[in-house]
Amino acid sequence: MHVPLTLIDFLERAELVYGDRIAVVDEPIAGGLGGITYRELGAMARSLASSLDALDIPAGARVAIVSPNSTRFLISLFGISAFGRVLVPVNFRLNAEEIRYIVEHSGATVMLVDPELEAHVRDVPVAHRIILDEASDSILRRSEPPRHRVTDEAATVSINYTSGTTARPKGVQLSHRSCWLNAVTFGWHVGVTDRDVYLHTLPTFHCNGWGMPYALTAMGVRQVIIRKIDGAEILRRIETEGVTLLNGAPAVVAAILDAAALRRERGEPVPGRGTVRMVVAGAPPPSKAIERLQSELGWEFIQIYGLTETSPLLTINRAPIEWDEVEPAERARRLSRAGVPAIGVRLDVSPGGELLARSNHVFDGYYEQPDETARAVVDGWFHTGDGGHLDGAYAVITDRKKDVIISGGENVSSIEVEDCLYQHPEVAEAAVIGVPHERWGETVFACVVLRAGARVTALELIAHCRERLAHFKCPTMVELRDSLPRTATGKLQKFRLREPYWAGRERGVN
Ligand code: AMP
Repeated sequence: MHVPLTLIDFLERAELVYGDRIAVVDEPIAGGLGGITYRELGAMARSLASSLDALDIPAGARVAIVSPNSTRFLISLFGISAFGRVLVPVNFRLNAEEIRYIVEHSGATVMLVDPELEAHVRDVPVAHRIILDEASDSILRRSEPPRHRVTDEAATVSINYTSGTTARPKGVQLSHRSCWLNAVTFGWHVGVTDRDVYLHTLPTFHCNGWGMPYALTAMGVRQVIIRKIDGAEILRRIETEGVTLLNGAPAVVAAILDAAALRRERGEPVPGRGTVRMVVAGAPPPSKAIERLQSELGWEFIQIYGLTETSPLLTINRAPIEWDEVEPAERARRLSRAGVPAIGVRLDVSPGGELLARSNHVFDGYYEQPDETARAVVDGWFHTGDGGHLDGAYAVITDRKKDVIISGGENVSSIEVEDCLYQHPEVAEAAVIGVPHERWGETVFACVVLRAGARVTALELIAHCRERLAHFKCPTMVELRDSLPRTATGKLQKFRLREPYWAGRERGVN
């Protein structure tokens, strides 16, 4: 028997088994949805699909969403993708022009917008714009059943735009089969059970929340929304909601550790000892932070590694029983490696030191970019662009082959920032690299050669970028130089620019 693996499995199981249970607790703000049960989540997802039917949005159409974490976003994960349309989750920190590019490139005809971002995207052209507020909640209350229901596991769930090796972001096309397998595998490795309470510290737009919302829904997990990363507020939610599981980038760990230190200074207890597990990825976490999370907070630290292109789970590093008696610093060092292959994943390293991966949840391709797809998947192996090696079964990431900077868990394409600097009439040459940063892991650093007679200052160049790019992509430092290091053939030697900043470190990424 071959039954297609589609997201509807997760939603319908939750409705059947956990119908009366609170599914999502929205951020407690005006216009929030409060607590909704899994029965309501299912009904609202179907109603959203039926509302798109009423607008004559056909199966296969792309529906963009620009929103911080919210209950309505989680409803859309199912309401769009399980009933035949393709979700295009957009990083809401992008500027309006960057969002316009994604909407246009994906061909989205509908854009769902959180009320906070209404003004921000007002000028982005799209056929149907729906503000996700109380006024439009009628779209979540229809009773007509949806016209479409996905039955083909190869159908596309979402196109997730990710910054990489090209000046413009590429659209990663993920199928129902990939998302299904990723969710089940992820849920299994992390041990998601129906006793868990999950805090949404990871942005849902980021690879559909790493696919975790699908796994959580299947198991009837209570999900708590948080819209902004604030260490003190995260601790408060963990305490009041009984949270047991959260995901985030190393920058979120740093915010939590700072907030926990303040609590201890005030003599207040830090919640979660022995009950919370935190899954960290996006960049390599410092081993000191891992040790502190385990020793000071008593939380379990789990590292995963993956990319949007791989749905994302490739490896997992979770302390096995054999490490129980290992002293904390050594345990943290072991946990600072990316981890062992997840079930169904095979890893290899190319002769040039690039990590390669194969699995059933590697993507189908970049949307309408066959050349980029062919560059990424060669002879059945996905080229991650990450440099590293295998330490026994453990993948260790030491370097980045692709020209990408990861700041606070968000990818920044160096080429895109260089392009922006070149738009300034007084810039002759620009090279953008990532340099270590205590809070964000890496920060964007630009070396610029000005044209003869130019008068622009470093600060003015930063301001120039901030007018044109999302702020997380902008250089925090610009150094004006007489020349850039190049090979005899004129090729820029970024490694020489990076050297002084990364010298003495074990790895060249942070
Ligand atoms: P994204 O597609 O935005 O999720 O970014 C994927 C990239 O994040 C990978 O190619 C890595 O460079 C980086 N990354 C993700 N997880 C880890 C990790 N655990 N350690 C080091 N780098 C990571």
